[in-house]
Amino acid sequence: MKTPAVYINLEHIKENASRLIDRCNKRGIKLTGVVKGAAGDVRVARAFVQGGIRSIGDSRLRNIIKFRQEGFNEEMVLLRLPQLSDIERVVKYVDICLVSELVTIKALSREAHKNRKKMGIILMVDVGDLREGVLPEDLLDFTAEIIDLPGIVFKGLGTNVGCYGGVLPTRENTEILVELTKKIENKFDLKLPLISGGNTATTILLDDELPEGINNLRVGEAILQGTDITNQRLIEGLNHHNFVLKASIIEIKEKPSVPKGVTGHDAFGKKPRFEDKGIRKRAILAAGRQDVKVDGLTPLLAGVEIIGASSDHLLLDVTDSAEKLKVGDKLAFNLDYGAMLALMTSEYVHKHYIH
Ligand SMILES: *Cc1c(COP(=O)(O)O)cnc(C)c1O
Repeated sequence: MKTPAVYINLEHIKENASRLIDRCNKRGIKLTGVVKGAAGDVRVARAFVQGGIRSIGDSRLRNIIKFRQEGFNEEMVLLRLPQLSDIERVVKYVDICLVSELVTIKALSREAHKNRKKMGIILMVDVGDLREGVLPEDLLDFTAEIIDLPGIVFKGLGTNVGCYGGVLPTRENTEILVELTKKIENKFDLKLPLISGGNTATTILLDDELPEGINNLRVGEAILQGTDITNQRLIEGLNHHNFVLKASIIEIKEKPSVPKGVTGHDAFGKKPRFEDKGIRKRAILAAGRQDVKVDGLTPLLAGVEIIGASSDHLLLDVTDSAEKLKVGDKLAFNLDYGAMLALMTSEYVHKHYIH
């Protein structure tokens, strides 16, 4: 097997999708399966569909176009706010997009109307995380501007927490969305079919605290990895760590733990610090910062510690390794969301699929 490689457990991802759909169904929630963490990987997206996902979310238009060209006919939801330069292709390939800017919605409307198409939109509301969204106090005025636009189907409100500001989802900040929906429906005498309550972080409310009325969640991390990094938990009942990195040892030697010579800055402009632990056994792996987010790796072999990395090398202290290691051995690592994203995006990393 060529390395570095990510081993992707498609069966476990499929099971996660199907288990989460069951949990959502019990609450009358439609699940949008978010595949963006796998960087447009078609086989991963197919595992979502095999698990029962009928609505696929991705933040990159390019991935959505690729899925369409591969024959996916599920609903496609564009998660990142559309760029003005992408409007034509958004209307052509996307069913629902998340929006927050009038100028963008008007451009979508013109393009959809011209092509006799309907563009579904979810209007994002910022309930405190300070990423995308209209502020609640501006929402009614904003709505007045968009409800009569031709070619646009106003599906409902959405929100996103736990991404930029690290704001945790609660019954209170999620309920804002339900109340705002009611306000809009009353004032403009219309019905908004969707209330899109959040992402993986919000699944923590699924068992009891999720407000009545929320009927859509957009979930990626939970299905891909069975984890919820915002709430720092493994999600019970799901398969965990379905992406594993394997990388090969290219050097293993006993060396001092403190560098010799006058030290400046490392290749990334940082001033490294070292603790003198005497002579240690160090291994170098053929994988580096170009491929992976190093602090998102957890070695699976006991006694192995990551001590640093350069662009192309991962440095380990293996003095206390549970196994005797040699050049050519492969070491495995669990990945957090960021490490998975980077590895899946790197064209230098092989992908192996476990069915
Ligand atoms: C990435 C993203 C999601 C999914 O987030 P997870 O934490 O992976 O579940 C949902 N909504 C939006 C707008 C996103 O950008």
